[in-house]
Amino acid sequence: MSIFDSPAFQGHEGLHAFADAATGLRGFIAIHSTARGPAAGGCRMWPYASEQAAIDDALRLARAMSFKNAVADLDLGGGKSVIIGDSRVAKTGGLFEAFGAAVDVLGGRYWAAEDVGVSPADLAHARKSTRFIAGLEGHPAAAGDPSPVTAEGVRRGIELCVRRVLGRDLAGVAVALQGVGHVGAYLADKLAAAGAHLVIADVDEAAVRAVAARTGARVVSPDAIFDAPVDVFAPCALGGAINADTLPRLKARIIAGGANNQLAEPAIGAALLERGVTYAPDFVINGGGIISIAAEICALEAGGAYDPAWVEMKLARLVQTLDDVLERGVREHRPTQDIAIAIAQARIDAARRRERLLEYS
Ligand code: NAD
Repeated sequence: MSIFDSPAFQGHEGLHAFADAATGLRGFIAIHSTARGPAAGGCRMWPYASEQAAIDDALRLARAMSFKNAVADLDLGGGKSVIIGDSRVAKTGGLFEAFGAAVDVLGGRYWAAEDVGVSPADLAHARKSTRFIAGLEGHPAAAGDPSPVTAEGVRRGIELCVRRVLGRDLAGVAVALQGVGHVGAYLADKLAAAGAHLVIADVDEAAVRAVAARTGARVVSPDAIFDAPVDVFAPCALGGAINADTLPRLKARIIAGGANNQLAEPAIGAALLERGVTYAPDFVINGGGIISIAAEICALEAGGAYDPAWVEMKLARLVQTLDDVLERGVREHRPTQDIAIAIAQARIDAARRRERLLEYS
């Protein structure tokens, strides 16, 4: 299949291939839109089965970042980078320095941060070759790991859904957490502190054991998590958790979690609506991390310090946006994912119109 025939290619502004023979670096930077500002989104390192799989992932994730950044009302466009490789064995400082050089070539059209397989320590190497890197640690502008802010946004989103659907607070509410990595573990701590009863699963046994010991969560197998009799199902692992096979098994009236691309296909959104399940669109509820990254980019560009008050203001507004999306979903009997995409697309289109007006004025 050619790049342009791929269903993942949807009006993207650019797709940039990069390689460095000396370090074995190979990957892609996808830029979906810069209408609202420089494209921003994480760098994922993954052992993709093919170049096409890596390209499709970068394209899909970049478009999702455009929506996420627009719905969080950030002055950022959407982009994403992928490095082909196994992060457990193939990482070197040199490889990330070469990645930084690839980012630098774009002259600020794309800002990278961490995603699956990439840590702040890796980004510190990338930063040696370019200034367009965020998600760093150890200086006044740095946001560090964005996962705690992501988890805080997801906790508030779950609380909102529970209030709307079940008319109660989190105490005693049963939540199934699929994946207790960075986001899932912070979320588990926050939910347990609020009195929720947790059922957790992860393919990493040490991770589930550690979280269960801290929170009193019940551990089930990665497959059994879909059958857990809970009020809320919170996907916090990889994408595609809600699909034609898993949907009929879910007991929860609410799906709200931190993972990206939770719905395996757009039609699942309509199926959730028909089943009476309230779905918090992933790119709305998990926007806390990119808000934190945006604060870092602002601070880096202005030469100032990370501003937690600004992050809190944006996060509070994001939860309000989620409330508006859920309200419209009920009123218009429409999938919440579609409503959220429409809001984001309208904001991106408005920015494009402003750009064109400026060009012609
Ligand atoms: P992570 O790699 O730290 O955690 C993911 C966890 O899921 C790991 O512990 C992994 O073992 C587990 N897992 C993988 N497959 C599984 C399966 N089939 N069943 C159960 N567990 C499984 O990643 P993270 O940073 O916590 O991100 C989690 C998700 O949230 C990803 O989809 C990511 O794109 C998304 N996200 C993360 C952030 C952030 O701030 N880190 C922000 C927005 C979205």
